Amino acid sequence: MGKGILLITGGGRGIGAATAKLAAASGYGVLINYASDVQAAETVVSDIARLGGIAKCFKADVGSEWDVAAMFDFAESMGRLSGLVNNAGVLEQQMPLQLMSVDRWRRVLETNVIGTMLCAREAIRRWAEQPQADDNRAIVNVSSMAASLGAPGEYVDYAASKGAVDSLTRGLALEVAEMGVRVNAVRPGVIKTDIHASGGEPERVSRVAKSVPMGRGGEAEEVAQTIMWLMSKESSYVTGTFIDVSGGR
Ligand code: NAP
Repeated sequence: MGKGILLITGGGRGIGAATAKLAAASGYGVLINYASDVQAAETVVSDIARLGGIAKCFKADVGSEWDVAAMFDFAESMGRLSGLVNNAGVLEQQMPLQLMSVDRWRRVLETNVIGTMLCAREAIRRWAEQPQADDNRAIVNVSSMAASLGAPGEYVDYAASKGAVDSLTRGLALEVAEMGVRVNAVRPGVIKTDIHASGGEPERVSRVAKSVPMGRGGEAEEVAQTIMWLMSKESSYVTGTFIDVSGGR
């Protein structure tokens, strides 16, 4: 755990799980947060342990202030908190805006926007109490190409939530730069994970791949590699910026 603890929200599946495995292999102790799929999270923990890494998992709804505080307490009980990947995110059934309910918007914004802000706030508060403890503190937010493409006819609410994540990334990066905390975001394009099933189209990646200049969907590991570069000292002079991981789309 030479690099300290990396907290990854939504780390039990998809992009978060791929990031957790890479992070552990590179020397981080990893705390894998999940919302409900304990089996998936425990599988990632045991996969990491089998390879000699250190990982634990913690159930918390990132939209809950109480859960987030408890999760950060747990992370700090594992060791020195070095980084946060704000990866947890949700989308709902594809439909035009005119059919969407307010309850749905609240759910999407609560996880994707409030969740990201709550976790970022908690990390910054804790780091502010120990300003010198680490020379590579970083937050990586997982946004989406939807922030600029808009996801018309599918989920403009989700796209808007990721636009908010982009603004947060820029603003917070400038706010905490002097503290030595870097804040960046990745914007994945269409990546092969379960999230598309939540939108009602499990095969969405094959359909959309045709419109990707590189002609294919992305792998979760390809996003994870970019997240871990932004987390690493290799990117020590990079803050307030975005990397599109989208095959050119
Ligand atoms: P995924 O496979 O559906 O995994 C989502 C993860 O988020 C799960 O681990 C889930 O926990 C967790 N989660 C959901 N709501 C949560 C909450 N309230 N509190 C804590 N954890 C919560 O999705 P993915 O594709 O890997 O997506 C990861 C991130 O990438 C998201 O922010 C997504 O918007 C973004 N992204 C994905 C794509 C893509 O094409 N896949 C493209 C652009 C951006 P459980 O396992 O417990 O359900």
